[in-house]
Amino acid sequence: MTIQSPDVLVIGAGTAGAAAAARLAEGGCSVVLADRRPAAMAGARWINAVPGWLFDKAAVARPAPPERVRAGNTHASVLTDNQGRFFSVVASDPGLHVDMVLLTQRLQQRAMDAGVTFLQGRVADIDLDPQSERLEGVTLALAKTHTATTIRPRLTVDASGAAATLRRRVPALADACPTPTPTDICLAAQYQHRITDPAGAQDFLAAHKASPGDNVTRMGPVGGYSILMINVSEDLTEVGVLSGSIPADGVPSGQAIVDRFCAQTPWLGQRLAGGQAPIPLGQPYTHITAEGVALVGNAANHVYALHGSGVGMGLIAARVLADAVTSARDPGDAHTLHHYAHRFLRTYGGRLAGSDLFRRYSQTQTRDEISSLLNSGLLGGPMLTAGLLQTPFDADLQSLITVAAGALRHPRLALGLAPTAARILRLQAAFTDYPAHPDPRALDAFDTRLARLRRF
Ligand SMILES: Cc1cc2nc3c(=O)[nH]c(=O)nc-3n(C[C@H](O)[C@H](O)[C@H](O)COP(=O)(O)OP(=O)(O)OC[C@H]3O[C@@H](n4cnc5c(N)ncnc54)[C@H](O)[C@@H]3O)c2cc1C
Repeated sequence: MTIQSPDVLVIGAGTAGAAAAARLAEGGCSVVLADRRPAAMAGARWINAVPGWLFDKAAVARPAPPERVRAGNTHASVLTDNQGRFFSVVASDPGLHVDMVLLTQRLQQRAMDAGVTFLQGRVADIDLDPQSERLEGVTLALAKTHTATTIRPRLTVDASGAAATLRRRVPALADACPTPTPTDICLAAQYQHRITDPAGAQDFLAAHKASPGDNVTRMGPVGGYSILMINVSEDLTEVGVLSGSIPADGVPSGQAIVDRFCAQTPWLGQRLAGGQAPIPLGQPYTHITAEGVALVGNAANHVYALHGSGVGMGLIAARVLADAVTSARDPGDAHTLHHYAHRFLRTYGGRLAGSDLFRRYSQTQTRDEISSLLNSGLLGGPMLTAGLLQTPFDADLQSLITVAAGALRHPRLALGLAPTAARILRLQAAFTDYPAHPDPRALDAFDTRLARLRRF
């Protein structure tokens, strides 16, 4: 039986929503989890790369096979420019390759085991308290019965991904969280294909000095912010093809880039699984809570924009939110929810914002400019690894020497990059001052400071 007045209603049963529902229920809350799709169809449908440390921080066990694919050996990431000239090899691929369908299923099962009720239904309407504007009720149009039901939780979590169904409807959040513009939307696609000619796949890998299981990543195939990543399985039977770009910049979408690669690659066979979707880029929102509601995952722009990665940060946000509210008398109270915003943004906001600033810089660069930058040595190995791992760049002496040597060889490139690099460092530092209390004046001052640093 559905609880009509649970402690928490979570909208969206993808990884962020399912993880939030599980941890909230494990902490003692009564939880209803709703998705417009059947539970088995919710969330991402492709293979994602997620650094292992993000699972640890989120208190989610690291994936094991078959959920973790390419688990056999330690693999490298071979990075090439748009001409296929390789400029860097990250010896140990920092991402675990995760079958997102299985990860989502595992998190949903954890939620059900903790007593969460699942409903298939889409948000049809919301009720706000006329005075306080607190979110008091959510009406769901139920898929199976074609009826509507109104749930009155104390806290509603918007984990509806790019749809951001509550963020767009709750006035306090809609005002503070502008919808990403088309130039802030990456269209990405990832598909698994059978390999029909293993010798052809081996030739491809040999041409890139790569081994089966390694990631071969072409940076900037159609413009500054675009990638094409090929991952051949260890047994040479399957290959993953991933691409992402920002079509509003006048370039082909990730799907079109994948399709072109597939059409031009004779050793590729039948398409087995995968999908495409928009990924919201942009700065992480600084207002991720309002009375009775909190945002997590893609709905909160918790995306590491440099490569459009949102799984790990969404899982961490789910944990931080659950831990902030489970022992509170009223989980939807604005002061309680602010603990979540403060803890998450103070720790992770700076690196998300910094990565987005570099994304915007890369969008201003042509394919050839990105190629020159990659080949210049200005982005040294440790910097690239930090970018792939989603960790802050910790400059040791050796990497500073590498960057300085690159700057001496390429002074014009270094001068072009320097202002963005300086802003990234200042943005990262600024988030450590995220206001500890939900004081509107302090939050306004914080936003004004960020706006200055973000200006391009
Ligand atoms: C091709 C591709 C490759 C990617 N690769 C990576 C990668 O390698 N690493 C990485 O970290 N990230 C990657 N990403 C991004 C990653 O997939 C997302 O950041 C992540 O899945 C977001 O999770 P989420 O739970 O916030 O939202 P979602 O997974 O989008 O889940 C949202 C859920 O909400 C439901 N919903 C929406 N609207 C409503 C409504 N009105 N009512 C009820 N339910 C609703 C949806 O049905 C959906 O199930 C990739 C994305 C794409 C498209």
